[in-house]
Amino acid sequence: MTDLAEAPAPVWPIPSSLSPSRVSSFTSCPMQFRFSSVQRLPEPPGVATTKGSVVHRALELLFVLPAGERTPAALARCLDDALEEYSTDPDYVALRLDETAAQKFRADCDKLIERYFDMEDPTAIRDIGLEVRMAANVGTLELRGIIDRLELDDDGELVVTDYKTGRAPSGNFEQKSLAGVHFYSFLCEAVLGRRPAKIRLMYLSSGETIETVPSAQSVRFIDTRTSAVWKAVERACTTGDFRPNQSRLCDWCGFQQWCPAFGGDPDRAETEAVAAYEALLADPVAVG
Ligand code: SF4
Repeated sequence: MTDLAEAPAPVWPIPSSLSPSRVSSFTSCPMQFRFSSVQRLPEPPGVATTKGSVVHRALELLFVLPAGERTPAALARCLDDALEEYSTDPDYVALRLDETAAQKFRADCDKLIERYFDMEDPTAIRDIGLEVRMAANVGTLELRGIIDRLELDDDGELVVTDYKTGRAPSGNFEQKSLAGVHFYSFLCEAVLGRRPAKIRLMYLSSGETIETVPSAQSVRFIDTRTSAVWKAVERACTTGDFRPNQSRLCDWCGFQQWCPAFGGDPDRAETEAVAAYEALLADPVAVG
């Protein structure tokens, strides 16, 4: 016999790693986090997200070229290649775009890459890494992230560049979006032993660039904040208490029909979300 009561088994498996976007997903809505990061349910892809992925891929292909060959015509070819790659990708197929919608998708991508050349000269960029995967531990948690582009400035200091295809944040939301990118400086310091001199967010939809200079304090804050979020994730997995948090993000949430805040039953999500996603992929016929 022992006096020590055994800890109750968690209701849900506790994830062993988190990306910055998952951390932000938990703080925005724990219920959505349960669906996407704990149950790992498939989410119907959105046009905007897939467009962003295609443009990111086109820019990655551009930077594979020698600096002198990074011209607008080359980027247009890179976009062709990226669209070709994505034509069979489940995230694109499941959009079920008809011919008109596919043309608009392409035209929107064209606009984003045209604006890119107004924002910087890629022939002058000293890139040292593209789509760089990094992971570092915060306590028992592994924090993972992918950096779009890592480069050196004129002084040989590290610069992290993150492409954004959504709208640039305004006012208070600007600081919130920058909070996310401080994860990247945390990862650089942990993995490379160097804090970046600058982090840049390039908003291709509006041509704006937001820059921030990470400090020792901002990096320390990531450690503290992530540890606090992680404790909350562990607690929610142990108790099964993932509360919905309604906000304007609900309009884009792929799990709304199973969300209790909208009268749904979260316990039906597992079977129904998988079946709905498989049906979407099985019938790629355009629905207009
Ligand atoms: S619909 Fe809203 S409240 Fe419900 S899971 Fe999605 S984001 Fe959360």
